[in-house]
Amino acid sequence: MSLPPPIKKKLGRIFEPKSISFSKEDLLCYSYDATGESHLPDVVVFPTTAEEISLTLKLANESGFPVIPRGGGSGFTGGTLPVSGGVVISTQRMTSISIDQENLVADVGSGLLTGDLQDEVEELGLFYPPDPTSVKFSTIGGNIAENAGGPRAVKYGTTRDYVLGLEVVLPNGDIVRTGVKTAKGVVGYDLTRLLVGSEGTLGIITKAFLRLIPKPKEKALMYAVFGDLASAADVVSTIIREKITPSTLEFIDGASIRCAEEYVSTGIKSGAEAVLLIETDGTLKSVEDSTALIKKICQENKVLEFRVAKDKKEIKDLWKLRKNLSPALYKIKPTKINEDIVVPRSMLTSLVTGVQEIAEARGVLIVSFGHAGDGNIHVNVMIDKDDPDEAKRGAEAVSDVFDLTLSLGGTISGEHGVGVTKAPYLSRELSSSLLSVMRGIKDVLDPKGILNPGKIFLSPSNKEN
Ligand SMILES: Cc1cc2nc3c(=O)[nH]c(=O)nc-3n(C[C@H](O)[C@H](O)[C@H](O)COP(=O)(O)OP(=O)(O)OC[C@H]3O[C@@H](n4cnc5c(N)ncnc54)[C@H](O)[C@@H]3O)c2cc1C
Repeated sequence: MSLPPPIKKKLGRIFEPKSISFSKEDLLCYSYDATGESHLPDVVVFPTTAEEISLTLKLANESGFPVIPRGGGSGFTGGTLPVSGGVVISTQRMTSISIDQENLVADVGSGLLTGDLQDEVEELGLFYPPDPTSVKFSTIGGNIAENAGGPRAVKYGTTRDYVLGLEVVLPNGDIVRTGVKTAKGVVGYDLTRLLVGSEGTLGIITKAFLRLIPKPKEKALMYAVFGDLASAADVVSTIIREKITPSTLEFIDGASIRCAEEYVSTGIKSGAEAVLLIETDGTLKSVEDSTALIKKICQENKVLEFRVAKDKKEIKDLWKLRKNLSPALYKIKPTKINEDIVVPRSMLTSLVTGVQEIAEARGVLIVSFGHAGDGNIHVNVMIDKDDPDEAKRGAEAVSDVFDLTLSLGGTISGEHGVGVTKAPYLSRELSSSLLSVMRGIKDVLDPKGILNPGKIFLSPSNKEN
């Protein structure tokens, strides 16, 4: 849809000129996310207050145009794409931060970059654990909307575990506060938890009250290299079975390592078909004990090389390798279909071997890496989307991977959400009764369907997902 001039004029009355843009160049910058898809909005606005967002949503209800919340635009499932045009609300100017050291609570604007919050609290000896690999460019609001995880989720949980309360503008324009700023609270339904992971479809988050914890005193980073995928997967299952809780337990397959090594040289043995990046944190004694145990488990499972990073530079290089994996894969093929499936950790070996069988059967390359400690593997189907035959085989491989995941007792998304790309598969995982409850919640809060339409559900009227 294209917004008629009178509506644009009314929007111009809500925002001062520097906080609203209709220019093609600006619209292009807010048209895409990490899926690589692009849809132009009609307008982009840069509010600094919840009131401006409230007025925009009230106008949207009167006039029937879509409103799309946007943080850093790093989502992998198209959650912030303006698929039917409308007004993109960028939170990039809502970056307030206030830290209550007595109560260990951070009160932050939803557009604050997660990495900026981490840096700030760590200076004070505090810790905000959620650490999506995108911390440097994703926002607290986007992390909450997607319930972002990251390498540390294996020990510390996901974003959901740190959100005490929210300031939210509901689709009808009401500004509400959910949850608490205290350590506990159980008054009424837990709308905070409902909003976490709701992908910008139930409200626009303007502020978040986040739980902080003391920063761990010591940590050690190890890496273990294997000649086959199954041995690495067995190590992950054994670490969990032995009740060791590393702070990160990341898995990288051989193809991914070879791509990323061109960005950063780590000296990892050639012939590596899998690498585990394992970090433990806590007291000096607990770190030493778990490092020794993890080394023993690796040695019992055909490890080719095991090392503890010796200094800050080596630690930085290893994380750089891990953080560059996603962009590095584009060297293999121009299109990456990144699916963040999760299986019970005891099923990891079946998953990695099953995925390789799918790759062979469909004749496509699939490379994997991710948060193995959570059973959360990023399975990347590498194709050229301009080659129709390869694109078809890629889509079939994705469908097979989802079926395999569900057959192993898993879920089709651990942290990237449903957005647009996973909407067609929702009914494979959720029963029709559950889906109608979810649609009902959306209808109650957003009866006119103006907030982030086309996300999670294929369309309001399509009952198939
Ligand atoms: C290289 C790379 C690595 C990544 N690594 C990880 C990882 O380790 N773990 C992980 O979980 N994800 C990861 N991601 C995915 C992505 O970074 C996360 O989903 C992140 O939470 C998105 O935040 P964002 O600010 O970029 O949100 P956007 O992409 O702008 O938006 C994502 C969704 O949130 C909604 N939204 C944004 N702000 C608000 C708000 N204030 N109120 C309501 N809704 C809002 C949008 O409408 C959309 O539905 C990675 C992405 C990239 C590109």
